[in-house]
Amino acid sequence: MKETVLIIGAGPAGTASAMNLLKAGFQPVIIEAETFPRYHIGESLTTECVDALGRLDLVEKLSKLKAPQKKGVRIFSKHPKNSFYVGAGDAWQVERATFDGMMLETAVERGAEHFQGKVRKLTHDENQWNLEIELPDGKITADSARFVIDASGQHRFSERQGIFGPLKEGEYSRQIAIFSQYESVTNKPEDAFDTLILYRAEHEWVWMIPLSETRTSVGLVLTVDEFKRQKLPLEEFLDARLGSFTAPVIERIGSARRVEKVRAISNYSYQIDDYVHEGLFCVGDSHGFIDPIFSFGVEFAVVEAEYAAKAIQACAESPKPKWNEHARRYVDITTSAQGVIRDMLAYFWAHPWGFANMAHVRHKGEFLELFAGRIYEIKDGAGLKKMRASIR
Ligand code: FAD
Repeated sequence: MKETVLIIGAGPAGTASAMNLLKAGFQPVIIEAETFPRYHIGESLTTECVDALGRLDLVEKLSKLKAPQKKGVRIFSKHPKNSFYVGAGDAWQVERATFDGMMLETAVERGAEHFQGKVRKLTHDENQWNLEIELPDGKITADSARFVIDASGQHRFSERQGIFGPLKEGEYSRQIAIFSQYESVTNKPEDAFDTLILYRAEHEWVWMIPLSETRTSVGLVLTVDEFKRQKLPLEEFLDARLGSFTAPVIERIGSARRVEKVRAISNYSYQIDDYVHEGLFCVGDSHGFIDPIFSFGVEFAVVEAEYAAKAIQACAESPKPKWNEHARRYVDITTSAQGVIRDMLAYFWAHPWGFANMAHVRHKGEFLELFAGRIYEIKDGAGLKKMRASIR
């Protein structure tokens, strides 16, 4: 009989974990609190993310979503002539409700079990993890397994249960992202279906991510303090800020129409140092999130899922004293990849022109690879070394 692995959450971390575990011969059971399809922010994928989905044979399914193809990221400073472009390879922009729905549906088609329920409690006894789950009708049920994946995203279920911690504030905490979707954004031909990042001050920026020929995800990021100071409702605040942002934003948003609810998320940047314990693995946002500016969240979720499945397989095949070794490897590889992006971001905000120069001239090839998301098990190249030297 196949060994069960319980998975908390059906976002990309949970469903990619399930599909990787199926390949490794386990029986994944996904417990998701919400009814799918559900709205989620995080629409721009990296090339490495798409490659990881390819390793799960999902490319055909992805193409059926008819999502726009993204080739790169166009970055605008407040002076339009100083904008620059970083190729990102071949990736996609996806509506997350559709994408996450496809991921869950495919995991179930391939043999994962899924049921709706909110995990309320997680405890460990000598041999296994015990979950207490609240079903949609309010009844409580229980389930147990040796291996559990916490893929609960920003809810950080096991950290909030006191299993992991302390939680460290990330470099980009105390920020707020306010976002919605718009019809008829006036894109320039060169924008293609790329991600646009338009900033005007440190940590104050706008994203534009095309989701179809006519629809664009638009978000504004700034400090929570600045938002509170204005004492305006979300909608008014977003409209006013976008309408008075930099010229490239105003040109594009001018006659666009907001067609979705305005949502906001704040204090989303955090990290936990150790995120594996006795067969419980955190994958994706459940253990850390840096910042959305370079669109790496879904990549972290789906690539970590691969490593977590491998680590669980290695643990299952070895005696318990060996588990720490496999857990350590998972944490080391995933922490190191996150560190690459953390340092790139720090360098970008500290030296935006140096960053543009590296991306365009001095270390173009290396930057292309990094922006495409080739950040796992890599050796630091000359560009990365230079970046790191100048921020430390
Ligand atoms: P999630 O996608 O959040 O999934 C977690 C799931 O767990 C949810 O469905 C939740 O309902 C469920 N859950 C939680 N607690 C429980 C429980 N107790 N019981 C049962 N189920 C539970 N990433 C990108 O790649 N590209 C982007 O352009 C991008 N833009 C972003 C913009 C902003 C403003 C922010 C904040 C993030 C952005 N991200 C982006 C990051 C991206 O959204 C996340 O990194 C990604 O969704 C993480 O996936 P996950 O599976 O770990 O978590």
